[in-house]
Amino acid sequence: MDSQDVQADLKHVLYTKEQIQTRVAELAAQIDADYQGRDVLLVGVLKGAVMIMADLSRALHSHVTMDWMAVSSYGSGTQSSGVVRILKDLETDLMGKHVLIVEDIIDSGLTLSWLRANLMSRGPASVEICTLLRKPAAAKVEIDVKYVGYEIPNEFVVGYGLDFAERYRNLDFIGTLAPHVYE
Ligand code: 5GP
Ligand code: MG
Ligand code: MG
Repeated sequence: MDSQDVQADLKHVLYTKEQIQTRVAELAAQIDADYQGRDVLLVGVLKGAVMIMADLSRALHSHVTMDWMAVSSYGSGTQSSGVVRILKDLETDLMGKHVLIVEDIIDSGLTLSWLRANLMSRGPASVEICTLLRKPAAAKVEIDVKYVGYEIPNEFVVGYGLDFAERYRNLDFIGTLAPHVYE
């Protein structure tokens, strides 16, 4: 899978930097309108949500604080199992807070469904979810996701925080990989 040039590893671009920035600004406007001046605690899920967290938080006009969680889903290969382990927990007490989970992508929904229930048990005033991408075809559980950037086909994507073997997170767009990378 070694190649000198990142661009040569990509098949096509799904969303450009400009498209993502526009969509993230729209989500931020919606969030500002919904929270009406209340403080929001943004909970980013490491590592994929780093880019959307950075852009979304800067596009918001509401008062926000930020915290991070790292979780791992046990399972065979690339399939999420729904059995989740906390690798890094929040530093913030959620009691009475309005929590907005910020995610890069929802695939089966198993990780997020577990995470929402876990955060709900800590006594917050509310827990909502914002994800840049969602694959409706892959959903294994119903979760109510209030803010979705784009619904995408059931294809593996990289860039803007999303990795393949830890690479490609730094791309400022979202694209699909050329077969030579994973074959
Ligand atoms: P699930 O919703 O299945 O529990 O798991 C979601 C996680 O799987 C995401 O946070 C992400 O780490 C990974 N994932 C799912 N689909 C993709 C994809 O198309 N590309 C990349 N890079 N990661 C994905
Ligand atoms: Mg994620
Ligand atoms: Mg990954």
